[in-house]
Amino acid sequence: MVAELRTRAPGETVDSVAFRDMCRKFAAAEVAPRWEEADRDSHFPIEFYHAAARAGLIGMTAPTALGGAGLGVHETVIFMEEGSKINPNLPVSVLIQEIAGGLLAEFGGDGLQDIVRRNIAGECLLALAVTEPEAGNDIQNVRCSARRDGDDWIIDGQKAFISLAGYADVLVVLAQTDPSKGRHGMSFFAVDRKSAGITTRQLATYANRPVPTYGVDFKDVRVPAERQLSGGFREIMAGFNRERLLVAGRWLGHMQHAMEWAKDYAQTRHQFGKPIGSNQSIAFMLAQGHVDVEATRSLTYAAARRWDSGVPIKDIVLEVSSAKLFATQAVYRVTQNALHIGGGWGLTEELPAMRMALDALVAPVTVGSYEIQLRVIARQLGLPCD
Ligand SMILES: Cc1cc2nc3c(=O)[nH]c(=O)nc-3n(C[C@H](O)[C@H](O)[C@H](O)COP(=O)(O)OP(=O)(O)OC[C@H]3O[C@@H](n4cnc5c(N)ncnc54)[C@H](O)[C@@H]3O)c2cc1C
Repeated sequence: MVAELRTRAPGETVDSVAFRDMCRKFAAAEVAPRWEEADRDSHFPIEFYHAAARAGLIGMTAPTALGGAGLGVHETVIFMEEGSKINPNLPVSVLIQEIAGGLLAEFGGDGLQDIVRRNIAGECLLALAVTEPEAGNDIQNVRCSARRDGDDWIIDGQKAFISLAGYADVLVVLAQTDPSKGRHGMSFFAVDRKSAGITTRQLATYANRPVPTYGVDFKDVRVPAERQLSGGFREIMAGFNRERLLVAGRWLGHMQHAMEWAKDYAQTRHQFGKPIGSNQSIAFMLAQGHVDVEATRSLTYAAARRWDSGVPIKDIVLEVSSAKLFATQAVYRVTQNALHIGGGWGLTEELPAMRMALDALVAPVTVGSYEIQLRVIARQLGLPCD
């Protein structure tokens, strides 16, 4: 599908309206029929990845020479928004391919480009392994180590919360290569998930269940030297900033879904002989929700447009973190209000309100928590905030 939109002159932007329409159709055809069973069973439907690859949605920003679509961050945000209007979790599997594949495409040598090609073709699922049991937001504290042994590296350590690790063909793993250099002594490695010494254990979570997370142990895992990426801490942070924009798109889609549901319920549920939405207190929640959606949309797309204009990443960190923080707060408000509007029925599985509220609880936690975004913003304002 994306291929049809690629036939444009250099420098021309893709037709966003047509792209959005394509994403909407893809979500209706591929997310809608799969997410409920995946949520119930906490399993990732791998055929969703294959469908996304067939549609040209894996490697959206990857160079066309590698089989990617060569699109901008703007389009990836559109995809996240439209997909998440149906379910906010399955589209995250595409986001992970985008970020992990982007690192490989940009910082992997020639030997790693074949992984990117296979990833885009739907033949090699990636997972991004950064977080550790003792290094969550504080990724400078990563302890997973890589030590040189002849032509190989040997990786030891533990990772936690690694989405899709149990399904992935290749893990893109952050490890310490030189502890004396602190955060500048780290590298990513592309590690075959089935390598000897790797074990995975699925974590039971209340949210994000169609894209399960895993604890991953590395014990004397041998990795050829050409599997080391050249990027360091600065490049990791660039990837994280892009991810923050994509998750803002994710929560933008999810809050619209919750708003639509809550508006409809408030108009059709009657108490005291009138729709509950005709009470000012309920109507105000929905009015606030409308502003939350529009403000998130403005912040997120403004940052995405600036990103695609080629501004150095250091100059748009403020916009990116502002969009991520606001989306995080807004999706929480909107889904908690939807749950409240659902009343007692909202707490049952008869209505979708609780599922939507549970999934939104992931928002302030991942890719730099609520407090971390505030800290970034404060520092960007010149405040010496720790
Ligand atoms: C569903 C899900 C999917 C995930 N997928 C991935 C993945 O694919 N790959 C990956 O590498 N990781 C993944 N993660 C990990 C995620 O990024 C971490 O959970 C996140 O970094 C938070 O780490 P933590 O849970 O250890 O929290 P901690 O860092 O321990 O934080 C706990 C609390 O302390 C607060 N806090 C921490 N530091 C400060 C500070 N300096 N100032 C003020 N408050 C602070 C935090 O805001 C938070 O409220 C995933 C997590 C979840 C829940």
